[in-house]
Amino acid sequence: MVDLKVQQRLIKPKIDKRIANVLHEGQYVWGREIGELEQKLASYTGCEHVITCSSGTDALLLALLAIGLLPGDAVLIPAFTFVATAEPIVLLGATPIFVDIDPVSLCIDPALIEKGVEAAKKAGCRPVGMITVDLFGRPADYSRLHSIGLDLGLWLIADGAQSFGASVAGKRVGSLACMTTTSFFPAKPLGGYGDGGAVFTSDAELAAKLRSIHEHGKGDSRYHFVRLGVNSRLDTLQAAILLEKLEIFPKELENRQVVAARYESFLKGIVRTPHPPAPETNVCHAWATYTIRLKNRAALQEHLKSFGIDSIVHYPDPVHKVAPYQKYPTVEGGCPVAEEATSEVLSIPFDPYLDENTQWLISNAVRQFVASQTY
Ligand SMILES: *Cc1c(COP(=O)(O)O)cnc(C)c1O
Repeated sequence: MVDLKVQQRLIKPKIDKRIANVLHEGQYVWGREIGELEQKLASYTGCEHVITCSSGTDALLLALLAIGLLPGDAVLIPAFTFVATAEPIVLLGATPIFVDIDPVSLCIDPALIEKGVEAAKKAGCRPVGMITVDLFGRPADYSRLHSIGLDLGLWLIADGAQSFGASVAGKRVGSLACMTTTSFFPAKPLGGYGDGGAVFTSDAELAAKLRSIHEHGKGDSRYHFVRLGVNSRLDTLQAAILLEKLEIFPKELENRQVVAARYESFLKGIVRTPHPPAPETNVCHAWATYTIRLKNRAALQEHLKSFGIDSIVHYPDPVHKVAPYQKYPTVEGGCPVAEEATSEVLSIPFDPYLDENTQWLISNAVRQFVASQTY
C-alpha cells in the first residue's frame, strides 16, 4: 500500500550512518538524537515545544493527562476515525461523544458541535473538549472549530496522526491547536521504522507537564516524582531514522500533491475521488492516503487483487459501531454521513514516489471494473 523501498534506497547510506552512530554512542534511551529531532520538528511545524513519545496513541493519552481529563468528563470526537482517537478517553474513565462528519472534508462537522455538547449533558457528563482528526491528511476546519469551542468553553486537541506536514494559511499542523498529536507509524506521512509519536504545543506549562508525564511524572531530579505518569519515550534509533526522513520530507510533501493530482485526473468521473481543498482556502493536504469511494468496494478489491494491486479499507466501521465503543453516545440523529462513508471508502496504493505509469495501471484496473459493472 505504501511502498517504502524507493524512499529507503534514497537515504539508506545516511540512515546506516546514523544507526551506526547510535550503536557507537550506546545511548539507546534519551540519546542526543531525541533533542535534535524535537528541535527540528518544532522549527518545521512552527510550534515551540515538541515532546516525542512511543506512539500516536500514547501522544493522545499524554495530551489528555496533561489537560487533566477526569471521569465524568465528555470529549467530542468525529465518528469517522481510527479507534485510537477514542481509546485514551475511555481508558481515563471519560466519555467519548461521537459527532458526525462533514460530507466533503470527512472531518468533524463544526455545525454539530453544539449538538455534541447537548448529547454529553443528556448523558450526565461534563463536556470539556474536542479532539479533531485530520482524516486522510486533510486538516479539519480549525478556524470554525476554534470559535465554536471558545463560545462553548471547549478545549481543542488535534489528532494529527495522518496530517503531519499539512497546513492552513501557512500554519502547519502542530501549531493549529493548543496541543497536536502525531504518529510516526511507518505508513504515516512521516514514518519511522517502528512505532513513535509526538505532542506539539506552544504552551510552556503544558509542555512541562507533558515532559514530566511521559517520564513517570518526573520532577526535578532522577527519582523525584510529582504526578502520575507513564513510560512513553521514543527510542534513540527511531529518532535517528526520523531525522533523515525529515530531511527529505518537504520534497516528499510536494510529490504527494503531484501523485494525488494524477490520480484525480485518471479517476475523476469514474469513482468518487477525494475532494481536494479549494485553492482559495489555502489548505495544504498531507495526503496520508488516497481514498476513493464507491458502492461495491469489496468487488473492486477482489478485481484489483487479481491484478496484484493492494487496497485497504480505512476504516470499515465508524467508531460508535465498534464493539467497545457502542455504549457511548452519538449526537442526536446519529452519524449517518460517517456510516455511509465507512461503507464506501477504499484506499489505493499511494506514496510520494508512485510513478505515473503505475498510477495509470491501477486507475485502468479501477476503470475496467466500473465499466464491467455498468453493462
Ligand atoms: C495512526 C493513528 C493513530 C495512532 O497512531 P499510532 O502511532 O499507531 O499509535 C491515532 N489517530 C489516528 C487518526 C491515526 O490514524
